[in-house]
Amino acid sequence: MDSKYIKKINLLYVEDEESVREILSKKLERFVKELYVAKDGEDGYSKYLELKPDIILTDITMPKLNGIEMSKKIREDNKTIPIIIISAHSDSNFLIDAIDCGITSYLLKPINKNKLLDLLEVNAKNVYLDKINILQQKKIEEQQSILQNIINVEQNISFVTDFKSLSFVNNAFLNFFDIESKEKFGEKFENIEDIFIENIDYVHKKLINNYSEIDNQSFGKDFFEVINNLNAEKRVVLLFDKNNDKKSFYLTISIIDNDKELYLINLTDITSIKNERYSIEQKAYHDGLTNLYNRHKFNELFEIELARVKRYKHPLSMAVLDIDNFKIFNDTYGHLKGDEILIKIGNSLNPQLRITDIFARWGGEEFVILFIETKLENAIQCSNNIRKNIENLENDLDTKVTVSFGVSEYKDNDTLESLFARCDKALYSAKEKGRNRVEFS
Ligand code: GH3
Ligand code: MG
Ligand code: MG
Repeated sequence: MDSKYIKKINLLYVEDEESVREILSKKLERFVKELYVAKDGEDGYSKYLELKPDIILTDITMPKLNGIEMSKKIREDNKTIPIIIISAHSDSNFLIDAIDCGITSYLLKPINKNKLLDLLEVNAKNVYLDKINILQQKKIEEQQSILQNIINVEQNISFVTDFKSLSFVNNAFLNFFDIESKEKFGEKFENIEDIFIENIDYVHKKLINNYSEIDNQSFGKDFFEVINNLNAEKRVVLLFDKNNDKKSFYLTISIIDNDKELYLINLTDITSIKNERYSIEQKAYHDGLTNLYNRHKFNELFEIELARVKRYKHPLSMAVLDIDNFKIFNDTYGHLKGDEILIKIGNSLNPQLRITDIFARWGGEEFVILFIETKLENAIQCSNNIRKNIENLENDLDTKVTVSFGVSEYKDNDTLESLFARCDKALYSAKEKGRNRVEFS
């Protein structure tokens, strides 16, 4: 056997008989990295404490502390250090004692040098490999602690995950979800991706899963691809914080380990920016008086519907509403009362329409409705219902307010202008025919 590992270890040799000790010490010195020698059990124990050898080789019969007693004491301090006992006798009492105190192996006197070296080599190899393992483990722990520190100083929420479990989370993460450790996360959420609230303006689980159906990749890969293919302004997610308030975050995702599919996810709170933007959008897209969509927003939504209708050939109808004799109304009851009527009519539309229908204040005392997936006759019917409902709206005046409708259905190659023009023509004819009625074109 070669002695590759013996060279790497420090050996403590304990022997009370001077002549034996000197001879064996001389031999051992040539093989081990460092040899410590002790002259009895007590000396052996104190050298063990002081020098922390890798392996102990000890005689059994010695003054003060014998080999077994010394080994017992050492075992109290260290459960794994190899202890090899050299014994002059092989009686079973001694063996039982030796096994009891956790002796690794024993050798009988007179010592066969090759046997001793073999035994030391085997034990040295174990010690060495254990040391390497411990070192590697330490290195990994060090790296983990560095990473942990880096992500802890961040204000942003950061975590590392393969979307099955969390490898790292920073303090901001724990704070946000009000949990003590990443291990507690499972008590709040079944899946990592469940933290993202489903909302049309934000990235969420269903959106990724739709994508997933196409290519059958893992969730993490899909998530990574979807996010990185989105325009930067769309890489936003919505989360509930510990107070159940919704918070918007800008999300970045990067790959930490390709094989393990580990990702680092970073969330920057953009709630205040989002809110500001939302209120700007509210103002830009809504009519100040009725709070309905304004003409600008209607145009935008119409374009989206138009694309859908052209692609899927679904029906689409439109109605233009105009309050009857509103000038006279204003003249009689005043402009403020007129405003109230506009608000009242605006509010009455929503419950009358389907959630998908789109309506807006076109301007003045005119409103416009887009009936999604609706043929002309149904749009006429629905318009008549709305008309009757408006006619019956309660007010504190001695008059009824009525509305006329012009309705038309989308035809191939229509634009907003051409469709609107037909509605307007029908509206004109409703006015001609006496108002408070629905006409179509
Ligand atoms: P018709 O039945 O033919 O539609 O008659 P009309 O009087 O409703 O039509 P006209 O176009 O002559 O007048 C529209 C009136 O609507 C004039 C204007 O004062 C009123 N109006 C437009 N916008 C507002 C508004 O924001 N508030 C109020 N109170 N009135 C408005
Ligand atoms: Mg008008
Ligand atoms: Mg009018």
